[in-house]
Formats: sequence, structure tokens, C-alpha cells
Amino acid sequence: MKVGVLALQGAVQEHLKMIEKCGHQPIPVKTIAHLNQVKRLIIPGGESTTISKLLVKYHLNEKIAELYNRYGLPIFGTCAGMILLAKQIEGQKQDILGLIDITVRRNAFGRQINSFEAELEINGITPPLFRGIFIRAPYISKAGKEVRILASFRENIVLAQQKNILVSSFHPELGDDLRIHRFFIEKIN
Ligand code: GLN
Repeated sequence: MKVGVLALQGAVQEHLKMIEKCGHQPIPVKTIAHLNQVKRLIIPGGESTTISKLLVKYHLNEKIAELYNRYGLPIFGTCAGMILLAKQIEGQKQDILGLIDITVRRNAFGRQINSFEAELEINGITPPLFRGIFIRAPYISKAGKEVRILASFRENIVLAQQKNILVSSFHPELGDDLRIHRFFIEKIN
């Protein structure tokens, strides 16, 4: 299956490698033509404000929203990708995709702990615990009724799903645990 990774900025290569290790065909997505080829899309971590500007510049935001709303294209947003997919961002206007009914808090874990790792229990993924790597991570401060909460860390939601949208606060593409990528590729739809 052709699985796209939005390749404007951020942790693109790592996701491409994970897709390949899962036995699927990774496609870096930079244009509408690339988007039209893929059966699934990952929006990686990076800087959400930068990715957002580039999405608008290349008219990819409209196309992504259309593919989701019309055809239910499964989309996985990690970290900055989660921010771009959230309906609301605390203290900031959301003017990009907004496809999942959550409110996110950016850089939610505070400056002192820019990055950390945590063992997460994930609903729908068999043990052992998943080692989540958080880098200036957001978390979900509010989730609508339709949203399935898949993992939390210290009472904060860090992995969630609504229909064909999956979002994570952490970076499952770092390290070599393929379970969340497999879950996205094989189970969401
Ligand atoms: N803090 C970043 C943002 O708000 C996200 C960090 C990340 O994707 N690792 O865009």
C-alpha cells in the first residue's frame, strides 16, 4: 500500500523508514499529485506554524481536507501533526485542517522538560508497554464525545482516534517499535 508522509518540514525520513519496515511503500508528499496517489497520510512532527504556512502555500490543506471529507483518507498526525489536525488550539486561532474534535495545548509539558520518554499503556495495542518519546510535545486538553482515547500520560491524553484520524503527542517514528504504525496502516479504516 502507498502510504504518504507530508514532506514539507520535520521528522519525515523517520516515518518513511517505519512505513518501509511495515512492508508498505512510503511516498514523500510535497504536491497535490503525490497526495492523489496515497491511500494513507502521515503528518509528522516538526514546527506546526511552519508546516501550516507551507500547507497553505502549496494548497495542500484544501486537498487533504477534501480527501478526508469525501473519501475518508486515513490520516495520522504526530506531535506538530496532531496540532494541525486539532479543531482547537489553546490560546491560538486554528486556521488549518481542524479535522478531529480535540483541543490541544502546545508545548504542554513545560519548558523544564522539553523532552522525555514514558512507558505508555495503549488501548488496542498488545503489551509490552510502548515507549513514547515526547519532544516539546502538545497534549489533548479536551476531547469530544466521538473521540476514542487510546493512551494517557499523567491524566493527559496523548493518543486518540476519531473515525479515520489518529493523533499522538509523542513520536512513534523514533526507535524501532512498529506497533503504532502498524495499527494506523492495518487497523484504521
Ligand atoms: N512544539 C511544536 C509545535 O508546537 C511541536 C513539537 C514537535 O512536533 N516535536 O509545533
